Amino acid sequence: NHLDTLGERNSYSKTDPDATFTRMKEDAMRNGQTKPGYNLQIGTENQFIIDFRLFPNPTDTLTLIPFLSSFQDRYDRLPAIGVADSGYGSEENYRFMQENGIEAFVKYNYFHKEQRPRYTPNPFHAESLHYNQDGDYYVCPMGQHMNRIGTRREKTASGYITESVRYKAQRCEGCPLRGGCFKARGNRIIEVNHRLKQYKRQARERLSSEEGIKHRGRRCIEPEAVFGQMKYNMAYRRFRHVGIDKVTMDFAFFAIAFNIKKMCAKLRKAGKGLFAGANFMFMGLFATRYNWNIATCCLMNEKKAA
Ligand code: SF4
Repeated sequence: NHLDTLGERNSYSKTDPDATFTRMKEDAMRNGQTKPGYNLQIGTENQFIIDFRLFPNPTDTLTLIPFLSSFQDRYDRLPAIGVADSGYGSEENYRFMQENGIEAFVKYNYFHKEQRPRYTPNPFHAESLHYNQDGDYYVCPMGQHMNRIGTRREKTASGYITESVRYKAQRCEGCPLRGGCFKARGNRIIEVNHRLKQYKRQARERLSSEEGIKHRGRRCIEPEAVFGQMKYNMAYRRFRHVGIDKVTMDFAFFAIAFNIKKMCAKLRKAGKGLFAGANFMFMGLFATRYNWNIATCCLMNEKKAA
């Protein structure tokens, strides 16, 4: 019945029950219309497509771990380095990569904002408050200690449990900074996910390092160039088949052809033999990824920029 077909999704197409209605980047009517499509994730290296997978869910956060697992199935190992945009920067993803020895160059939301030269952090924001690790308390802008009052656990859509510690100010009544500090009644309560905070700090250090800057720069010319060639040079904007199995086959053939074309172009450019070219092709394998929503028999769409 319909609910079985729907599964975890909140929509599906009647002409292709595997496709989910998604907002596309290419929106000719400019009305935010949704179209049936797939969320295609690809991994590239030296502009070769090294892996891909189709997902029904439109958000990227939940696709990273299954994508890396598919990479492992294909190559019998995980990439040593992972470069991805802020759509993938969740605690679950950071943790997975750390536990599996993947050096993560994955942005988190606000990373770009923090990098702006004129960026000044909000002094009232929980991230800006001083934390005393020994005493496990925060110090609010007025100098009051905010003591721990409990822990809140939340389950993500994938079943991962996140843990946020709650800290409460002792007396906010009559505080001259009250207006700028918070709007709720009573004393201010903040929630801090210490593990995520630690992962973000680590990511910030990595992304700001020399190597991180290099990877961030390469991300723009890696998957972006592949998408540009696919969409605009090769006009591959739609799947020609219906159903996830056939669409997977559709893209797999395209990826093979794309890689052969790319290898020939590189060999021609390098003017070397096939063997040297093949070595070059598989040198230093690591994954950068990006996503597209592809409408079946509709438009292939770029969902996010770097
Ligand atoms: S309103 Fe409360 S938490 Fe905010 S600065 Fe004043 S005392 Fe501190």
